[in-house]
Amino acid sequence: MRSIINHLIQLQELTLIRDEQRSIKGASADLSELNKNIDAMTQSLSPEARALYTRLYKKDHIVLAPTNNGCCSMCGMKLAISQLQSVKQCNALTPCPGCARVLYDPTGAKWVADSPKRSEGERKVGIARFSSPALMIPDLKGSTPEEVIAELTNCLQEAHFIDNADKLTEAAIARETIFGTGIGHGLAFPHVRGIEGGGLALAFGVSKKGVPFGGAKEGLAHIIFFSTIPTAVSAFYLKLLAGLTDSFVKESNAKAAIEATTQEELWKVLTKATRYSVK
Ligand SMILES: [Zn+2]
Repeated sequence: MRSIINHLIQLQELTLIRDEQRSIKGASADLSELNKNIDAMTQSLSPEARALYTRLYKKDHIVLAPTNNGCCSMCGMKLAISQLQSVKQCNALTPCPGCARVLYDPTGAKWVADSPKRSEGERKVGIARFSSPALMIPDLKGSTPEEVIAELTNCLQEAHFIDNADKLTEAAIARETIFGTGIGHGLAFPHVRGIEGGGLALAFGVSKKGVPFGGAKEGLAHIIFFSTIPTAVSAFYLKLLAGLTDSFVKESNAKAAIEATTQEELWKVLTKATRYSVK
């Protein structure tokens, strides 16, 4: 049954990639390849799983919900011990009694930072809600997506956001294999969804020489944003993605990022460039 869950995770990821492409490129996005893959993956589900998937997808593009701390991470419903056990054992698809999404037990890296609290004294605004100077890498050393993703995930671990950079790297590369996150203009957005228990975290790296990220548009990426995305904020991530894209397709911002030599300088470039695009 875990293999059906993995199949559904991949299928969901593909449909969310399609949403990402639409949010970046609007009507001009070429989705034919993605549509073909989505159709093929939908058709290869068993009839029961396909019927369930289709019904859930009509309601919302997030059809799967990882469990977190005994609750459904999408609707927050506290789950009974017997439900949690059946999710762990994975002998059948277990629907959430609150939102009906298919529950699964996430096995990847875990969030370890404090969860962001709205009521705390100093309210952060803009990009500072998701990132910090400690998550800036002004000079990525790697030459491949794998190498630079590992630099970015290690940075997230060292800054105490997540517990296991290796697992996070592995998940990000699995995601990259489904569909490259390069979007042209020297930009790439590797990410991992389903890191629950905290907020969205964004690490930002610059590669002076460029790294060949695959994707809708092949080419070298110099400006690389790595995000961990709690499933429930997938829709918000699309806005962040569009905002960052808007800011860094501008040559002046990209140039400033590439010229930054310290974490503080790169942080300044990021906060300035996103002042109006990321709210
Ligand atoms: Zn739920």
